Amino acid sequence: MTTTTAKDPAADDAARQDDPPAIAFEQVSMRFPDGTLALRDVNLKVMPGEFISLIGPSGCGKSTLLKIASGLVSHTQGDVWVDRENLGYTFQDATLMPWRSVRDNVELLMELRGYPPARRARIAREKIELVGLSGFEDHYPARLSGGMKMRVSLARSLALNPNVFMFDEPFGALDEITRERLNEEVLTLYGREKLTGIFVTHSIAEAVYMSGKVVLMSPRPGRIVEVFDVPFGYPRRPELRYDPAFSALCGTLSAALRQTIEDSQDD
Ligand code: ADP
Repeated sequence: MTTTTAKDPAADDAARQDDPPAIAFEQVSMRFPDGTLALRDVNLKVMPGEFISLIGPSGCGKSTLLKIASGLVSHTQGDVWVDRENLGYTFQDATLMPWRSVRDNVELLMELRGYPPARRARIAREKIELVGLSGFEDHYPARLSGGMKMRVSLARSLALNPNVFMFDEPFGALDEITRERLNEEVLTLYGREKLTGIFVTHSIAEAVYMSGKVVLMSPRPGRIVEVFDVPFGYPRRPELRYDPAFSALCGTLSAALRQTIEDSQDD
């Protein structure tokens, strides 16, 4: 199988066996107050430094899982372990404050945490540079493209130096070229900042390109149907998307996704 391996994922897996997970769900279920059972008996472990993607039909509970992990909603059964002190989160929408400049948006979470102004300014400068927005510090969100807004959102979360990062379909609304460029940037950040990541997407190709494992969820109530290992090492090159082994894995995932939808319709 063709790979762009720079490090051996199997060796990494072996080295990680004894570490405690960065994120762990054990028999987690979630029922909303109106009675909707969103998740059922979810078991999932993400090891430090792993980057995984969640795919599944719309409404299967992917966002709910990320919200539980980040403490935005509470699960109703089971155990969840996540280091929330150091958690970063980006949503589908960049959720910027329109009246604040790029710099002031990036400083927002640091302000809320009480960082002193000089420290905020230094970190904001670093993170704005990291996401490629130097020179745009004084611009307001209305003057930024969709891709630039997502970069501001990423910089704002990165400012707190998270080691665990949740991506809730962050690039779904962007055009393909911008999405692919931001995929590269997130992978560069992943390599540089040693993040542990959970990435939610509707795109199978994006899931495979970004992650070391792709987790397939069933229709609601979401449970984990299967975890697929992605055999390509990091760093990844854009050409990987045209590799026959890459297409074959996307085909396998697409068939598994269709199958889980059909199976749930038979129930
Ligand atoms: P996904 O991210 O996979 O599209 P979500 O996690 O957003 O799915 O939602 C899972 C299910 O829970 C969906 O059926 C959704 O309609 C339902 N849901 C989400 N939020 C609430 C809520 N506050 N109250 C009741 N049901 C909800």
